[in-house]
Amino acid sequence: MALMTAAQYIESLRKLNTRVYMFGEKIDNWVDHPMIKPSINCVAMTYSLALDPEYEDLMTATSNLTGKKINRFSHIHQSTEDLIKKVKMQRLMGQKTASCFQRCVGMDAFNAVYSTTYEMDEKNGTDYHKRFKDFLTFVQEEDLVVDGAMTDPKGDRSKAPHQQDDLDLFVHVKERRPDGIVVRGAKCHQTGSINSHWHLIMPTQAMKEADRDFAVSFACPSDAEGLFMVYGRQSCDTRKMEEGADIDLGNKLFGGQEALVVFDDVFIPNEYVFMDGEYEFAGMLVERFSGFHRQSYGGCKVGVGDVIIGAAALAAEYNGVEKASAVKDKLIEMTHLNETLYSCGIACSAEGCPTKCGSYMIDLLLANVCKQNVTRFPYEIVRLAEDIAGGLMVTMPGEKDFKSDTVVGRNGETLADICSKFFVGNGKCSTEDRMRILRFLENICLGSSAVGYRTESMHGAGSPQAQRIMIQRQGNIEDKKALAKKIAGIKTERINHE
Ligand code: SF4
Ligand code: FE
Repeated sequence: MALMTAAQYIESLRKLNTRVYMFGEKIDNWVDHPMIKPSINCVAMTYSLALDPEYEDLMTATSNLTGKKINRFSHIHQSTEDLIKKVKMQRLMGQKTASCFQRCVGMDAFNAVYSTTYEMDEKNGTDYHKRFKDFLTFVQEEDLVVDGAMTDPKGDRSKAPHQQDDLDLFVHVKERRPDGIVVRGAKCHQTGSINSHWHLIMPTQAMKEADRDFAVSFACPSDAEGLFMVYGRQSCDTRKMEEGADIDLGNKLFGGQEALVVFDDVFIPNEYVFMDGEYEFAGMLVERFSGFHRQSYGGCKVGVGDVIIGAAALAAEYNGVEKASAVKDKLIEMTHLNETLYSCGIACSAEGCPTKCGSYMIDLLLANVCKQNVTRFPYEIVRLAEDIAGGLMVTMPGEKDFKSDTVVGRNGETLADICSKFFVGNGKCSTEDRMRILRFLENICLGSSAVGYRTESMHGAGSPQAQRIMIQRQGNIEDKKALAKKIAGIKTERINHE
């Protein structure tokens, strides 16, 4: 099958029997649910842009497996140029959706599993790499969305997986059969999981021998028997359920999505198992996936940042303060922060290198520095956006008031008249346009889009401490000490503490 259109993608979701729960109930028609639809629109954009000649170079690639043209979201990076194009594609997608477009987790999982299975087979003589290549060929040929799933619930964080009172707090192999394995457990806050055709599961952390049963990687379809998902709430999400809601949504068309994915004894045939007990490779898989996803944030969050900067500039203009030097300086600062994130995304890609199987990895130190900055700069960008927008962003009456013909004034003025009169801006823009841009900023700073821009910047692809551990490991302090000693003329090998 060739690349799918956005409409074909949405239709393909309808054919799945995916089990989704929300607000205590099973949602049968989740594809058209007003709270889920915006996240589907985001993923659909990965399809429509791939078919747009203007974006073809970034959005598509040539498969190293089949030689065919595929969506870049299913591509195994073959060069540093591929890595750079990935980041540029993510910035573009962020600009088009101002949201988390979800398909990257699968792409990052493909690249991590691809290179890790090769090295597992090299050491143990297993055939996981071939199995994975067959699976990925199927994904590329069918142009599917795959949820890359890593994060387990983890229960008591002071205990290893096998020490938990409830072993289900980490995904594990419950039973081994000649033709496959039965898995139990769950994956938390899974981005785009409901909109995905398949799931690619990876262990959540480095593991020791006692955690052998938890060192498992596999793929399964979204509607596998025993698999179900519980939709994650977002701030102001029920605004999407209000009849005729438009302006109050801020970002009406697009949004992110996270869910709890539960594996209630799911059978996985051997052909879809890519790790079963090889605990010594769990750390490598985690490090590679999180490295790729930390690179990703140097693209996607930057694209969203571009839209926020534009929205803040418009809010200033509508207020008539765009010429104020303080406003100009804030926009400069926002741009500086945003482009610094992009520089990190490009740098870790340009400094990438081949893995043993020939696919390309990012520079791990720079990817972790990239994500560490992402845990901070978007917060400052949002702070400056709120500063420029003013308090009206959170005190303005609702859309229905702005549209109401209820007479409230002595001279017959309606609620709409009163709102338009008192919330007028520079006189050159309509009150509605001013309202739209402020609602957009509210949505991205505090509403449902804040999940994707703010909190996800903190915790997605690993919380800040996870990057600090990697920065410490990759930072090579010993070499740096040697540099200092040489120039300072220090010849002693070690410091005598006595
Ligand atoms: Fe992609 Fe960014 Fe969403 Fe991760 S957070 S899935 S990199 S858009
Ligand atoms: Fe994410």
